Amino acid sequence: MTLDLEPKIELVVTGKSSQLASLPPFTVHLFAMPFSEYIAPFEEYPVLQERVLAVLRQLPEDVQADFLNDDRFRVEIDNYVPGVGWSFLMPAPGIDGNGSRCVILRSKLADATEGFAHYVIAHEFAHAFLRNGGWGEITDIEEAADALAASWGFTRPA
Ligand SMILES: [Zn+2]
Repeated sequence: MTLDLEPKIELVVTGKSSQLASLPPFTVHLFAMPFSEYIAPFEEYPVLQERVLAVLRQLPEDVQADFLNDDRFRVEIDNYVPGVGWSFLMPAPGIDGNGSRCVILRSKLADATEGFAHYVIAHEFAHAFLRNGGWGEITDIEEAADALAASWGFTRPA
């Protein structure tokens, strides 16, 4: 896909599904299909799948576009790596050498409260958006991810 968002119909035409070409170039259609790729790994965990989708849909359009325009951006489920918390970023190879854009979410997020799961998912997407870096004047990457996720409406539950 092209990095240029204007005009949007260009993205629709170059989308992966030929069905898209017959649809009007609404933004909702533009983003509805590619998200299915991100939530496909969670098919066996419908609760978690719905949570990932809910967070993706609430992301600002420029963030959604940043992910959708980067083939390295992926969301995967992981059940087998002990001791890595609820989620993590897996380094991915990139031309610029700073590609850390595979978000790994643990299946146990399906059992957490919705607010906490949404927060964890958004926090990880924030890391991916920030390329695991800071945000503005916030140089601590964890604080940066929390602050960005909060700006999207996902704060860490008390
Ligand atoms: Zn983090």
